[in-house]
Amino acid sequence: MIPKLTPCWPGERLAAVSLTFDDGAPSQLARAVPMLNDADLQASFYLNPRGDDYLETLAPWRAVAKAGHEIGNHTIGHTCSRAFRLEPTARGLENMTLDDIEKDIVEAKRRLQQLVPEQREMSFCYPCYLEHVGCGPTRQSYVPVVARHHIAGRGKGEFPFPNPPATVDLHYTWSWPAERMPGSQMVGLVEACVAKRAWGILTFHGVNEGGLSVAERDLRELVQYLQINHPRIWTAPVAKVARRILDWRKDNGI
Ligand SMILES: [Zn+2]
Repeated sequence: MIPKLTPCWPGERLAAVSLTFDDGAPSQLARAVPMLNDADLQASFYLNPRGDDYLETLAPWRAVAKAGHEIGNHTIGHTCSRAFRLEPTARGLENMTLDDIEKDIVEAKRRLQQLVPEQREMSFCYPCYLEHVGCGPTRQSYVPVVARHHIAGRGKGEFPFPNPPATVDLHYTWSWPAERMPGSQMVGLVEACVAKRAWGILTFHGVNEGGLSVAERDLRELVQYLQINHPRIWTAPVAKVARRILDWRKDNGI
C-alpha cells in the first residue's frame, strides 16, 4: 500500500515540468529565451565553459540567469562514447576514469559559478545522456560523482514516463528528447505528468537550428500551454524542482 503523502508541488499544482536546453546553441538566446521571458516561465540552460575566454564567450548568459533561468553544468569537454567515432584510436568516455570526469565536472562548475555567482544551486546534464566511464568489465557509472557536486542530474528516460517525486533518482532524472516533436505531442507529455502527479523534463537543443532542432512554432505551442496552465502545472528549472522534492521528502519522512 502507498502511504498517504502531502502533495509535492507548490499551491494547487498537479505536476511539475522543466524545459531544458543543451549546449548553449545561439538560437536558444535568440528564440527560446525571449519566448520564455514573455511567458514569465523559467528553464534550465546547460553550458560548456570552454577555452580561456569562457567568461566573454558566455557573457550573454548572465542576463539569462538574471531573468530567473538556471545555468547548469554540461562539462567542459562534452565527452561522449567513443562509439560515435569510426577510428580505432578515438577517445571517449570508455578511455576515461572517474577521476578524469570528476576533474572536468568540478572545473566546469567552478567556471559557471564565476559566470553566475548569484545562482544558489546548479544541476548537471549528462553529455549525450551517458553516465559511464570505462568499457565492459571496467565500465562504471559516474552518477555518484555528479551526486557529490550537484543537487540533480538530467539524463534520458522512456516515453511517456515522468519522474515520480518519491522515487526518482535525482542524480539521473529522466527526460524526453523533444527534437522534431510536434507541439501537440509535447502537450500530451505534459498531461501525462498531471495524470501521475509527477515531474516531466523535456530536452531541447537548437530552435530552428541544427540536427536536433525543435520548430519555433512547436516550442511556442508548448510554452503558451504551460503559461495558461501555470496555476495547475508548475514550470520551473531542474535545480528548483529538485530542491522542492528534497524538502518534500524530508517533510514526509522519505
Ligand atoms: Zn550536449
